[in-house]
Amino acid sequence: MSAQTAAPPTQTAPSRRTRWLRGAREFILHAILQDRVLQRAYPGVMHLLIFWGMVIQLIGTVIVILQYPLFLPIELPWPRQAAYLGFELVMDLGGLMIIVGILMATLRRIVRKPSFLINRWDDWYALALLFVIALLGYSTEGVRLMSVSPEWRAWSPIGNLFAKGFTAVGLDLSGESSLHDFLFWAHTAVGLLFIASLPFTKLRHMISGSINIVFRPQLASGALEPIKDIETAEKLGAGEIDEFHSNALLMFDACVQCGRCEDVCPSTFSGMPYSPRSLLQALYTSMKENLISSSNTKESISFGDMVGKENPWLCTTCGDCISTCPLFIDPVLAVIELRRYMTLTTGDVPGPVGETLTHMERRGNPWGLPKENHAPYLKELGVRVLQPGEFTDTLLYLGCAFGYDNRSQGAGRALISLLKRAEVDFAVLGPAEGCCGETARRLGHEYVFQVMAEENIATFESVKFNRIVTPCAHGYNTLKNEYPQFGGNYTVLHHTELLAELIAEGRLTVDREADDQVHTYHDACYIGRYNKIYDEPRDVLGSIPALKLTEMPRHREHAFCCGGGGGHMWMEIDPNTRINHRRLAEVTDDAKADVVVTGCPYCLIMLDDAIRSKGLVEEVAVKDIAEVLTTHMDE
Ligand code: SF4
Ligand code: SF4
Repeated sequence: MSAQTAAPPTQTAPSRRTRWLRGAREFILHAILQDRVLQRAYPGVMHLLIFWGMVIQLIGTVIVILQYPLFLPIELPWPRQAAYLGFELVMDLGGLMIIVGILMATLRRIVRKPSFLINRWDDWYALALLFVIALLGYSTEGVRLMSVSPEWRAWSPIGNLFAKGFTAVGLDLSGESSLHDFLFWAHTAVGLLFIASLPFTKLRHMISGSINIVFRPQLASGALEPIKDIETAEKLGAGEIDEFHSNALLMFDACVQCGRCEDVCPSTFSGMPYSPRSLLQALYTSMKENLISSSNTKESISFGDMVGKENPWLCTTCGDCISTCPLFIDPVLAVIELRRYMTLTTGDVPGPVGETLTHMERRGNPWGLPKENHAPYLKELGVRVLQPGEFTDTLLYLGCAFGYDNRSQGAGRALISLLKRAEVDFAVLGPAEGCCGETARRLGHEYVFQVMAEENIATFESVKFNRIVTPCAHGYNTLKNEYPQFGGNYTVLHHTELLAELIAEGRLTVDREADDQVHTYHDACYIGRYNKIYDEPRDVLGSIPALKLTEMPRHREHAFCCGGGGGHMWMEIDPNTRINHRRLAEVTDDAKADVVVTGCPYCLIMLDDAIRSKGLVEEVAVKDIAEVLTTHMDE
């Protein structure tokens, strides 16, 4: 491997028109309609009321201004008559939406107090400012209605209520004109204060968040950004704040500290001293102090002080934070940049990380085992080894786990028996199969990854096939979403997809009904969340007659991680903060399942480890989906 050089990233950039269309779609869906904010009912409705109330007020104010020839030599002739009544009503309701939204937000912050929500001064400042704006708007309207008393005053119901209130408390109408002027200018002044506050408070997320939604890096889901020209690159990762790309700095600035990412983070949940929100906050603080503040303190803030050296290693790259953040902020991007700096620039990495990377460099796999140990069962089962120039329909790429790990080898046997049974035309690469490099990439060693990717792509190019099938969730994601960055464009299927296809075509049928055991399916992050393979494994399990299948509370898009991704398979984790133990508790306590089914060898290993270390071997089992199928088939 050392004789090789890293492959130059090669991925076709989308056309300008495609980028504009995609940007417009993203802006409408995520910034205007706020679909992600609405994933949670209470804060979603709350935020939408405030946002749309403000939008209505803003549009209405612009319309009112355009009715005077202040800026343009024309007067807007709309709205008049019936349309004016509708306009009054909509503006009135817009203000009400703001007030209801603010009351909901206040209630949430004072009474409901979710653990992930922190209260900072500008949270209260923004709420108070918007409340005062709405209140002054209604007061101005109330005084206007009192003085003019138009017939249509019922069309401005809240303003009318204010007018009645003023009358009830005996407001002196003789001074109504100056009072109206005072309120009008106070309303205008607070509105201008709102605009002036945008750059200095959380309110700026309206701008920075929208820009991030539209201009965030558009990588394939599950893919990391490659280091271009890695052989000659001057910057390898980010060790100081100004070494982050401007896209990343924009993300740090856009974060509103809402804590949704922290709420779903398996590392935080399991008690690790880490949260994606805190990491982003540390990076934002560093950015403010080093790049924005007038007193440049760059010299005094070291990398360690910035985020803590351990922090980047506590993320499993599960991606739940990415799919949860309403502003599409990607903490994993920051984690990987920090890891790259430590791995490639300083070499100051935790011991097990260093060992794993050494195994990959010297032995070509994270297990550190010799190549001869890879999947000995292939020979035993008589699997065809594809030679250069030969063709097969389905190239079975087993990956390291199914090759070297004892537990996963059993699942590999089961898969091969299924492919044979369905008479699939398949073959393996045998000794020519290399590690996909995913672990190296997630641990920050981009160079090792790129070399491995180049070697594998060269091997794939030397044989002929229609598609690659792999039972490894991590290998699947890497081959499908990351190899195209280096010119490796293939049709890649996960084995759950192939099995679902074979069952649907009637090429694979189950012989026996299931027994009483309750099964639950654990969505692996790298095939589920990153690649949206949710239905196929459930279809496969559903094909087994009478199989009792139940769901864990956290499944599909928001399935809880097994704790093995992002290189955590190879790290030493404090026994008190093990993510796999938490996931196992969901299997046994919540789903009350006897068997947890996976489609990923890392999940298989992590859950198996949790079962053993908790002494639950008699109570619960973990199986690859191929093993579950073969269990219900005759020899
Ligand atoms: S990254 Fe997103 S989800 Fe997390 S705190 Fe920031 S805005 Fe909220
Ligand atoms: S990727 Fe997963 S483990 Fe990492 S910060 Fe996000 S939610 Fe936490």
